[in-house]
Amino acid sequence: MAVGGVLSAFVVIAARRTRTLSTSGAIAGALVGIISTAAGWSWGALLLAMFISATGLSKLGERRKAIRVGPVVAKGTQRDAGQVLANAGVYSAAALGYLLWPSSLWPAIGAGALAASASDTWATEVGTLASDPRSIISGKIVPPGTSGGITALGTAAGLAGALFIGAGVALANWQVPFAATALGGLAGALADSLLGATLQARRWCDLCAESTERLVHSCGNPTRHARGLRGFDNDLVNTVCSAVGAVVALLLSRAI
Ligand SMILES: [Zn+2]
Repeated sequence: MAVGGVLSAFVVIAARRTRTLSTSGAIAGALVGIISTAAGWSWGALLLAMFISATGLSKLGERRKAIRVGPVVAKGTQRDAGQVLANAGVYSAAALGYLLWPSSLWPAIGAGALAASASDTWATEVGTLASDPRSIISGKIVPPGTSGGITALGTAAGLAGALFIGAGVALANWQVPFAATALGGLAGALADSLLGATLQARRWCDLCAESTERLVHSCGNPTRHARGLRGFDNDLVNTVCSAVGAVVALLLSRAI
């Protein structure tokens, strides 16, 4: 536990230095790091693999992505506590469950949750670099960064993210079938895109006549609620994505 705490502190300080995490994100990161490592080294290592891969991909074409998605997405490039918990909350809850009531159900839940978060994050970070995303529902071209917008490149990256965690789980020797982890991850990322295109709250800037997820638009004008469920933001959608991954992986791990 103490060693896990020290290691988590090192990772979080590095993340803060490279401006990967905001202050609240760093605190949340330390918390999920300590809980995961307490459940076992492999839990901590898998979380770290997800975090490092997401950070690496976020640096890919960073400036270009910031310019493209700045007017649309709600938050900047530094991940805050909401984003950290949306991506690692279900996973660390599974780690805590494993710690308190050891059972083979928890690794399946954790594997699916993490694979879904990785799949969605990889798809978003890589997909934003591709041109002309289309809405997963209507098929119409939407501005880069719009939730529910998908590209072939992003989808391929999402598949790679799910396989990456599937491979990590296999390497860690968890008793979770590779297919259960990978398919759980893909199901979660799919749920994320579907919810992003439908129920996720969308706002509108009257000044620019542009759709956005920001409360205050990049032009400085406050935005108003346009459609979707009020308050059902990107963080909540990501939490659901992770939960769907967990449930699908758990069911498949029992069935395979
Ligand atoms: Zn505006």
